[in-house]
Amino acid sequence: MKILVINAGSSSMKYQLIDMTDESVLAKGNCERIGIDGHFKHSTGDGRVFETDVTMTNHTEAFVQIKNALISEEYGVIKSLDEVSAVGHRIVQGGSLFSESVIVTEDVIKGIESLIPLAPLHNAAHVQGIRACLEVFGTQVPEVVVFDTAFHSTMPEKAFIYPVPYEYYEKYAVRRYGFHGTSHRYVSGRCAELMGKDIKDIKMVTCHLGNGSSITAVDGGKVVDTSMGLTPLDGIMMGTRTGSLDPSVVTFIAEKEHFTPAEMDTLLNKKSGFLGVSGISSDDRDVTAAAEAGNKRAQLAIDILEYDILKYIGSYTAVLGGIDAIVFTAGIGENQSSHRSNVCHALAYMGVKIDDDLNAQMIRGKEGKISTEDSSVAVYVIPTNEELVIARDTMALVQK
Ligand code: AMP
Repeated sequence: MKILVINAGSSSMKYQLIDMTDESVLAKGNCERIGIDGHFKHSTGDGRVFETDVTMTNHTEAFVQIKNALISEEYGVIKSLDEVSAVGHRIVQGGSLFSESVIVTEDVIKGIESLIPLAPLHNAAHVQGIRACLEVFGTQVPEVVVFDTAFHSTMPEKAFIYPVPYEYYEKYAVRRYGFHGTSHRYVSGRCAELMGKDIKDIKMVTCHLGNGSSITAVDGGKVVDTSMGLTPLDGIMMGTRTGSLDPSVVTFIAEKEHFTPAEMDTLLNKKSGFLGVSGISSDDRDVTAAAEAGNKRAQLAIDILEYDILKYIGSYTAVLGGIDAIVFTAGIGENQSSHRSNVCHALAYMGVKIDDDLNAQMIRGKEGKISTEDSSVAVYVIPTNEELVIARDTMALVQK
């Protein structure tokens, strides 16, 4: 069975075609700058690459590019679209409506649309992606939606209710939802496999550290708390996002600078975090290089990040009542061994011990344990694979 995985953004559409017989990626690519000037890149599992500037006025036109590349004589990987058994879509916000993946129906599309106020950029784009796919494939190819929020739906009320007047939860569904759920689900499951234990018996903290970052407490395979909230702005400091703040910082700066809510939103989401503190870049590699060259604000940004990670692991260990494993994943978690090292050495008080050589080697897609045999807590680096989770869920639902 071959499954097409789609991740539609407001001006982009990423895809992977996965052969489920061995879970290999046959082809992947991205339509960028949809509705602007348009750029398309497609690469195949056997190393062929096709790249071009092409105007795509909407998601349906982007989907046509993907279709043509998949069946192209030169860069294709299938003879006809009939070989695609199903399509799986990544959806950012499932709200309280969707606690698991489902097959797309008109009611499901309406449900995703009804959640647009909670994720205006993302959910609106996902609906465009689903509709584009329906136009190109027709209704005979089943579509499945997999939600970033779903894995977090097991959180107890005390973890997801914000202490503002309760009426705003009732009126507007204002609560913690959490994001990156598909990634946290993948790495927590994989961690249990690598430990050779039943996930039901493991208390772990999974750290998804990328341009956007979130940390999750997983008890017996179920999320009990997570750092992102109503939106992906909450939690630890990120590339351009603040993470958690005293809310008064927002009203104070807005008043002083006469910012509108929209301008304040841009400041908090696009101009803060690594970029705002360092003044150099949102990219950890640039900030780390600047810190190594002696830039004090770059070093400060890194210190804040590592401090945030440390605080979350400490508080979630208390929430879990102990901890068996820590997992690092995503761009920074998989590659920046210095952050892992600093955080793990600071956790020595709880018996965390890592092997510095192993840690330094565990980069660029390598998977494995970096803790020593006598560490009380197992520490793993696990490259995330959200597309594979989407493809597996899609296959399971379609076969059912
Ligand atoms: P992501 O959002 O998961 O793609 O992660 C992006 C972040 O990961 C950026 O801050 C990058 O600096 C960092 N990153 C990605 N790849 C590497 C790498 N090979 N080495 C070091 N850092 C990386």
